[in-house]
Amino acid sequence: MFVDRAVILVRGGDGGAGAVSFRREKAEPKGGPDGGNGGKGGDVVIQAEEGMSTLYDFRHQVEWLAQAGEPGGRKQCSGANAPDMIMRLPPGTLIYDHATGMLLHDLKPGERVIIAKGGRGGWGNEHFKNSVNQTPRTSTPGQEGEEFRLRLELKLIAEVGLVGMPNAGKSTLLAALTRATPKIGDYPFTTLSPQLGIAEVDGTRRIIFADIPGLIEGASQGAGLGHEFLRHVERTRVIVHLLDPLPPDDSTPWDNYTTIRAELAQYSPAMADKPELVVLNKVDLLGDDAQARLKEVAKHLGLRPGREIVAISGAAGTGLKPLLEKLWSMLHAPGEAVAGWKGDSSGEKAE
Ligand code: GDP
Ligand code: MG
Repeated sequence: MFVDRAVILVRGGDGGAGAVSFRREKAEPKGGPDGGNGGKGGDVVIQAEEGMSTLYDFRHQVEWLAQAGEPGGRKQCSGANAPDMIMRLPPGTLIYDHATGMLLHDLKPGERVIIAKGGRGGWGNEHFKNSVNQTPRTSTPGQEGEEFRLRLELKLIAEVGLVGMPNAGKSTLLAALTRATPKIGDYPFTTLSPQLGIAEVDGTRRIIFADIPGLIEGASQGAGLGHEFLRHVERTRVIVHLLDPLPPDDSTPWDNYTTIRAELAQYSPAMADKPELVVLNKVDLLGDDAQARLKEVAKHLGLRPGREIVAISGAAGTGLKPLLEKLWSMLHAPGEAVAGWKGDSSGEKAE
């Protein structure tokens, strides 16, 4: 299983201190106490954010500290409460107390949880006035905010699966697109583990890719596709079907396309039903002939109108940004639920 992990520190803001002060007015040279109370420190609030699929951001921001409340002032002025610090996390994130290992929260969609409370503000001296003591000089400091070290864990579900003939360029493309390749746990079959990577569309949008070498390569090696393997890759929501425009073995891109489609249908009908984007790779080899070859391939594939082929070069890095944008729009089509993790919470056993 592929798990994204991060250890972070959260700390609620301290409460503001209460004030000690006395009224000073012409008519009342020895006025009573008027020190105001301190404001409350900000809470650290966790909010489930649909559309987030990784803990990538938490590798860069490790400390989440809410602001302290303002101290109280003179003339019964209360200090302002500090704003809450909002931490956005992907639904499905498990939040553990790092010290004890205890599960604190299993974040559901739309949920908002206070994970570290800010401290209460202290009392100003006005609060301590009573019939016995008319001029208290006492105030209290603000309460400290709660502090926890948390371990965040998220099962990564690949959103886009790369399929194609051996040597179509799947591994090269995955390496070109992704900056982070999560650690891969031991898979029951050594040669056939999907390789995962996180691609950045821009500063806030990420797509998780899986290179799925197994389907045809594994089948031809007689390796057989493990159940676990399929179970994982079947959760991808979009397939990128990578084609070599000039296969070295003199086969054609369209025949290879058909071969892979047949493998998909045979080994995983669930995969074969997914939306598919056909991508012509290695256009750096084609030079000026790229457009002509693209048209030719499209014609042979007989794709339905509106289904386009995207041309890229994984090795040269050409066309990768438009590819990511296209995939993003396929994954996040308006009105479509941001799926992926949902199929995961249906009581299925985690491994
Ligand atoms: P995979 O079997 O689908 O994972 O394919 P690889 O990524 O291992 O690539 C197979 C071969 O094609 C390697 O020699 C790569 O260097 C080469 N290759 C991959 N992508 C490109 C590309 O965009 N342009 C060119 N010219 N070669 C590529
Ligand atoms: Mg490969």
